[in-house]
Amino acid sequence: MFKSKASKITGILLLSASMLLSACGKSDKETSGTAAKNALEQIKEKDKIVVGVKYDTRLFGLKNPSSGEVEGFDIDISKELAKDILGDEKKIEFKEVTSKTRIPMLNNGDIDMIVATMTISEERKKEVDFSDVYFQAGQSLLVKKGSPIKGLEDLKKGTKVLAVKGSTSAVNIREKAPETTVLEFENYTEAFTALKSGQGDALTTDDSILYGMVDQDSNYELVGGTFTDEPYGIAVKKGNKELVDAINSALKKMKDSGKYDEIKNKWIKSN
Ligand code: GLU
Repeated sequence: MFKSKASKITGILLLSASMLLSACGKSDKETSGTAAKNALEQIKEKDKIVVGVKYDTRLFGLKNPSSGEVEGFDIDISKELAKDILGDEKKIEFKEVTSKTRIPMLNNGDIDMIVATMTISEERKKEVDFSDVYFQAGQSLLVKKGSPIKGLEDLKKGTKVLAVKGSTSAVNIREKAPETTVLEFENYTEAFTALKSGQGDALTTDDSILYGMVDQDSNYELVGGTFTDEPYGIAVKKGNKELVDAINSALKKMKDSGKYDEIKNKWIKSN
């Protein structure tokens, strides 16, 4: 009697354990399968790509106050992606991101991809997937013309450097000039306004972005050359290989056809 009761209990336990296991296995597979399949399919289904871009970064993504349109290198690259993936460059919606908000917005599902002066880094690869490199920048310094700061070596104790929250620049500068004080702002408009109002001695970010500020105000100049590599990539939610492949294929076509160079020459001056 005791034996049979025990084996009955064991049997029930085994049965429920195996049911539990098979349920877990199934739902795991289904969840990841759906996520992997749907990023590109969802874009095709809604017939529109929602792209996170900068609105305050001259040359890359800048909202033109008179037309209300966003313009720049990242914008033109995004339009080409829409043309290749959906057959029409107008099948796109732009949403503003900052360096700080872009990864949370992507992972929240607010945007399908980030095309916003974003460096591919090992740290970020833990959170998002990247396309191939589509632009190569490097970190530099912007100062008022005539400033005693000529390069990294002048960022001593007591100097103030302005940077933007969530950028690689804010992290790198602490490593490269450990004695300087770093002040972080929400976006590049705020950081440049702070530099102009004397809140800091230099502003640091990618040379490509700093050239846009010089374009806006020629009283400022880049100094000290570049001291990091900032390869830009297009970021998508993790685990979306099909979308990454579609982006890489579109980028390759842009390069092969000469369209990439055309866009680059339109926005980026060779220095
Ligand atoms: N490329 C750097 C980064 O991804 C600086 C530009 C930016 O803040 O977007 O952090």
